[in-house]
Amino acid sequence: ETAHEETALTCGADDFIAKPFNPVVARKRVDNIVVKHVLERERLQAALRETELLAARRAQELLHVAEHDRLTGLYNRTAFCRKTAELLAAHPDEEFAVIQFDIERFKIINELYGSAKGDEVLLAIARTLGEWLHVAGVYGRMEGDRFALCLPHDVALEGDYVRALEEAVAATEVDRQVVLYFGVYEIEDRTMPVDIMCDRANLALHSVKGDYNTHFALYDSDMHQTFLANHELVGEGERALREGRFEPFVQPVFDLATGALVSGEALVRWRDPQKGLVPPGQFLPFFENSGFIIRLDGHIREAVCQLLVQMSEQRSSCPPVSVNVSRLEFYDPRFCQNLIDLVSRYNVPPSLLRLEITESAYADNLPQLLEAMAQLQSHGFTVLMDDFGAGFSSLGLLKSFMVDSVKLDRSFFLDDSQRAHDVVESIVELARKLGIETVAEGIEAPEQVDFLRSIGCDLVQGYVYARPMPAEELEAWMRARHGGEVTQI
Ligand code: C2E
Ligand code: MG
Ligand code: MG
Repeated sequence: ETAHEETALTCGADDFIAKPFNPVVARKRVDNIVVKHVLERERLQAALRETELLAARRAQELLHVAEHDRLTGLYNRTAFCRKTAELLAAHPDEEFAVIQFDIERFKIINELYGSAKGDEVLLAIARTLGEWLHVAGVYGRMEGDRFALCLPHDVALEGDYVRALEEAVAATEVDRQVVLYFGVYEIEDRTMPVDIMCDRANLALHSVKGDYNTHFALYDSDMHQTFLANHELVGEGERALREGRFEPFVQPVFDLATGALVSGEALVRWRDPQKGLVPPGQFLPFFENSGFIIRLDGHIREAVCQLLVQMSEQRSSCPPVSVNVSRLEFYDPRFCQNLIDLVSRYNVPPSLLRLEITESAYADNLPQLLEAMAQLQSHGFTVLMDDFGAGFSSLGLLKSFMVDSVKLDRSFFLDDSQRAHDVVESIVELARKLGIETVAEGIEAPEQVDFLRSIGCDLVQGYVYARPMPAEELEAWMRARHGGEVTQI
């Protein structure tokens, strides 16, 4: 009996009832077993449901991570494209535009103020987008400091969000102006993949990048051609540099009081076998965008040092020559040291290599620029403020930057009005009080020379006396024209 009971239970029976049995008790025992099973099943089902729920929630989390940017919580590139496609499909009769925008030199904000400040700027943008656009369209963060929007066409062009975003970044109190650039692609063909629409908006954005006056551009089909051409140009530039096709021309600068040649400015030229002699206006902007300008300028500075060595050997006193310094250089912490190394390698006194820094670099108000200037001047280099008056010049710049010399931009001398003359006169006067030398640039007419002399401007550079010429012709030019050591106008 007991053995049977044991076997039965071992084989998985729930219970064992031996005869004779009490039917009421047996019924209860069976009921208990049934209840136990039902409860167990329910427990299992509940557990299963919970697992399913968890899995579903996890899946949602994963989807969120996959679709959203970690820092800002905005849609990432993939999700932005998908949501935009959905938006377009849902509103077949409405016109839309895709916008890309980014922050000028965002890397610099991170470098100067720390990445926490950079994050703060990005978050301020994300917050503003949320406040302004959650009803109107789709927005996301594409990468780094680039954001994307898809908005109804009118909203996109009306630009209220532009002002809202600009205010938001201004409020982050980065103590230099944070500039946003916007590129807009007005959607015509809705079958085009959204990421291509984004590329087009991005091309428009790059067409205004670095522009002082315009921060907003619409895509047009020429931009694509220009993009391809520029891309090619940079490649050609690299090749030309390897093949030694870039050289400095030199334009003499004269003292207005004595008429003596006192210095020269090196101006790059590209000698192309097909195109001939190409002036810098046709390639420098693109080389600046791509960063290639740094290597090109390095090459020009080497060539100028060689020229200085040569002239020092040929004449008893060698005039200084200035080189143009791209503003990009000031983002390189080794810039000063590189220059110091350069002149000592050629054994050239630093006072012979003058450095022209364009006014707009000062207007950027970079702390590194101030630091680099002070360091360069303490090593005996001369620093000139170039293109003064071309951008949003302010006399305040002269006060804050202890430059050695200021070059008045050619644009001053295109206007012959009394007012223009008065402006030039007061700048020259102020510079004199501050002990800053003045150079008038782009002077073509003898009457301009008379005027400049009458107001006490120090130096003059322009076609009126000499055009930029190949460096190797300079010595011959000086001798042929004046036959001696001292070159007079
Ligand atoms: P910039 O430094 O202001 O140079 C003066 C420009 O005015 C030169 O143009 C020069 O040829 C031109 N110029 C001089 N006198 C006259 C004149 O009487 N009339 C007219 N119409 N123009 C005159 P260029 O050589 O085409 O250079 C243009 C700009 O490109 C320069 O302006 C400078 O900002 C930049 N640049 C030139 N060479 C270099 C270089 O090696 N490196 C860098 N980073 N920039 C350079
Ligand atoms: Mg210059
Ligand atoms: Mg200039």
